[in-house]
Amino acid sequence: MERLNSFSTLGANEIAFAADNFGTPVYVYDEGTILDRCHECLNMPNAYGLTVRFAMKANSNRSLLKLICGAGLHLDASSINEVIRASLAGVPYDRIMLTTQEVPQGEARIKLEELMLSGLKYNVCSLRQLRQIAGFAAANGIDIAIRIHPGIGSGESATRNTGDDYACFGVHLMDVKEALSIAEANGIKFRHIHVHIGSGADPIIWQQNIDHELDIISKHFPDAETVCFGGGLKEARMPDEKSADINQLGNYAKKKIEAFYEMTGRKLKMEIEPGTYIVANSGYAITRVIDKKSTSLLNFIITDGGMEINARPLLYSSRHPVYIVSEDGTQVKSSEFESNASGWEAVVAGKCCESGDCQTLDSDGRSIPRAMAEPETGDIAVIGGTGAYCSSMTPFNYNSHTQIPEVLFTKDRDLKLIRKRQTLEQMLENEL
Ligand SMILES: *Cc1c(COP(=O)(O)O)cnc(C)c1O
Repeated sequence: MERLNSFSTLGANEIAFAADNFGTPVYVYDEGTILDRCHECLNMPNAYGLTVRFAMKANSNRSLLKLICGAGLHLDASSINEVIRASLAGVPYDRIMLTTQEVPQGEARIKLEELMLSGLKYNVCSLRQLRQIAGFAAANGIDIAIRIHPGIGSGESATRNTGDDYACFGVHLMDVKEALSIAEANGIKFRHIHVHIGSGADPIIWQQNIDHELDIISKHFPDAETVCFGGGLKEARMPDEKSADINQLGNYAKKKIEAFYEMTGRKLKMEIEPGTYIVANSGYAITRVIDKKSTSLLNFIITDGGMEINARPLLYSSRHPVYIVSEDGTQVKSSEFESNASGWEAVVAGKCCESGDCQTLDSDGRSIPRAMAEPETGDIAVIGGTGAYCSSMTPFNYNSHTQIPEVLFTKDRDLKLIRKRQTLEQMLENEL
């Protein structure tokens, strides 16, 4: 059996088996990789305690939520619906924090109150959210958290920087005084201070963020007991990229939180909220090569899954590894992780009528070729690094394609269907 790469135990034979049994395209998630990442984060060095919250918007499949929370992680939810989904996966409300742009009104507001009474932690992200919930929180003795907009941020692209002055997440530093006076007027205290600077953050900026947030807490939040540094831990999808060093960042945070204690006599608990880091490299989008074409400039391979199963190249110019596996699953013909001697290059295009439907785009959105072994039609093209922000954020019904199934490759090497393929009837069922 030929393994797909060095960090997963998934073999070429299992890829072909998944393609044959569940049909292409299909997402396959490697349970072993997810559990490894969970344990790595749970073992991050810390001073006075650590909670790891999985940012469930990265991948909200029920089976993955069960797996990740079963390993000991809590959750970061981005909407009330995500909280309900988490609960349906069996996650208790007191292990979920809601950090949202929503301002719940009417029925949603009633739902929010019900969830908070059941233990959900609400992290207010604006003065309006705070004004609307402060009275209710005070009357019921419920603590609320506050997300601060630190004015500095970092992300792999501008669209994923959530902490600079071009983004609108959290209560901006200049509004913190107002937030504190609203809290005081209502008799509530902020014990949980939160910052999230962006996805795929530069580890140096992530480190600076630690200093910055502790400084904010020492200046403004005398009641703080927990500090959350957010997500954005960088995961390397391509061989030339470098992942965040969890151990190094943890040691840095530990040192700084201990220094904070020396200075103030207060022991802060730490939280982190990785999404990408937990699931990105567990995911493989398995597609079939259905056609090949060339222009005077480029070769193209056409696969039966593209932007509607992974929009990240189109959205962010993200690079994902491409593996070519023989149709019978006996051979990994090429992969980004091994040197490629064939000299053949091709653009990996999908089946949508959209010139940006390519898995290989440059930062201007132009299709660019990748070196690979020339596949036969019928061979399998696997797009790696597709465990985060693929299934959960793609325009899956574009061109009236149906949402694709999800499969878990378990530790005991079983391929288990965890979401069925959407049917055409389901796609149309709400049309009148
Ligand atoms: C999206 C998000 C995260 C996770 O970001 P990653 O880059 O996937 O780690 C964490 N916290 C909040 C509040 C988020 O919105």
